[in-house]
Amino acid sequence: MVSSEEAVIVNTLVRQALVAAEEVMGANGLHAVLRNSGLERFINNLPPDDLNPGIKAVEYAKFNEAIEAFYGRGGRGMLRRIGKASFQYGVREQGALLGIAGVALKLLPEKQRIKFILNALVNALKKTNAQVQAWVDDADGKLAYVESTCAICMGRHSEQPICHLYIGSVGEAVRWATEKEYEIIETHCIAKGDPYCRFEVGEARV
Ligand SMILES: [Zn+2]
Repeated sequence: MVSSEEAVIVNTLVRQALVAAEEVMGANGLHAVLRNSGLERFINNLPPDDLNPGIKAVEYAKFNEAIEAFYGRGGRGMLRRIGKASFQYGVREQGALLGIAGVALKLLPEKQRIKFILNALVNALKKTNAQVQAWVDDADGKLAYVESTCAICMGRHSEQPICHLYIGSVGEAVRWATEKEYEIIETHCIAKGDPYCRFEVGEARV
């Protein structure tokens, strides 16, 4: 198990998060938040597209916290939108594989499609960073993406779940696989004292 001091986010994922954040918040918003979270070195200076360590996970958590603080009541919605944009960026940049899978997916029942895309997320994250401990939970007929190394809340404390960016990414992934909007519920969060963050796929919104 990697301690929170050692945990890192690789460059390509930092890059993905910053591009997505700029899409949603604009350059000025992003720069303000980077300054507020001590990450001003990334202003007009994206990290390279490689798998070297980019920032500490605790710094990434501070970045998320700064977005929430900067936008106040709108912060959660903003983080969800960044999460969505982040998944879309992933499909755009590394989408060849998902593109082919997308065609085959249409033949599968909806639950299998959701399972496929959650597993794809787990595998993609593990491939980029060996520290990541994530899995798909299929107990009680509910599908969920679970991670015990969640970087969004690393070192943070809260009464409520706070990994809004992940809710956006998981929701967008499920929408990509099913062409439907599903409610995503963060049932567990490390910031609350749970052993992992768990994002459950709820009901489809019709
Ligand atoms: Zn979390």
